[in-house]
Amino acid sequence: MKSARLYGHDDLRIEDVPDPRAGSGEAVVEIHASGVCPSDIRSYTGSGTAKRDPWTPGHEVAGVITELGGGPTGGFSVGDRVVLDWRGVCGRCHECARGAANFCENLVKFPIAGFAEATVMPVGQLRTVPDGLSLEAASFCEPLACVVNAHRGLAVPLARNVLVVGAGPIGLLHTQVARARGARVIVADMKADRLATATALGAHDVVDASAGDTRQAVRALTEGRGADVVIVTVGSPAVISSAFELVARNGAVNLFAGTHPKGTVELNPDVPHYDQVAITGSHDFIPDDFATALRLLGFGMVDVAPLISHRFSLDSVVDAFETTRQQKGLKSLVVAGH
Ligand SMILES: [Zn+2]
Ligand SMILES: [Zn+2]
Repeated sequence: MKSARLYGHDDLRIEDVPDPRAGSGEAVVEIHASGVCPSDIRSYTGSGTAKRDPWTPGHEVAGVITELGGGPTGGFSVGDRVVLDWRGVCGRCHECARGAANFCENLVKFPIAGFAEATVMPVGQLRTVPDGLSLEAASFCEPLACVVNAHRGLAVPLARNVLVVGAGPIGLLHTQVARARGARVIVADMKADRLATATALGAHDVVDASAGDTRQAVRALTEGRGADVVIVTVGSPAVISSAFELVARNGAVNLFAGTHPKGTVELNPDVPHYDQVAITGSHDFIPDDFATALRLLGFGMVDVAPLISHRFSLDSVVDAFETTRQQKGLKSLVVAGH
């Protein structure tokens, strides 16, 4: 079968590799949709963590089971439509026991290797795609699960102001989840087309961060108070710093994006102290977040169709990576049969 293999900086190749076979308790999944994630791009551009070479990136994956090995099947059959959860958590350690399986002490990171024609995974890592949900849409389950994890840690009272900073694919997922939770949602971004998409997906107000004073604009929309919750989806220290000026007293800032390259932020300690602002973060997800993400997609509470700006064949995976690297459009998918 064909598989993309990353040999190093700017060196992603399509190669013929042996077809995957399912061992006991495993399934072969024919990959139908695989989303390009900024973390893939960091590996590709050399700014991400070093990995063994060559390897196959791709962890936002949906497909169809084509083979089951012997042993447990997890109730799955050949032909089932599934999404793949790369996080193998133990369910027994200190972190899992207290509901923080995103920090599982025995985590197994399954290399989904999603930019390929097929992959093999333990059946325990497969989740059923709801009827009526396309495999393209289902491939958003993994990033949406990360968004759900963030929201699980944020109080969002009805009709309170939630400001989403950054209207990229992740910001647009946050926009919809915040909207589903009953918030009044404000989205800030520098790009007019992204703000238009945010409005189409339910943002009540948008702020053009390229024009004028964002702080003033947010204050004007919030009776001078700032947003009760600010979700920062941009990993830039300057943008993160600005969040502390956009949040209301007694509010919360969620730092959803890591900084790349690693950066530091100067913090006025009087913001958390006198203004009682909680500074929180979130990373990855627990299995229940993944299940919640699938329900949000399956029930139509989160619509990802407007986020898909580009589709590529596996043969054009380099174009998919370059498109994401250059921040063209929103989400690029590698799609079978395209
Ligand atoms: Zn990702
Ligand atoms: Zn664990």
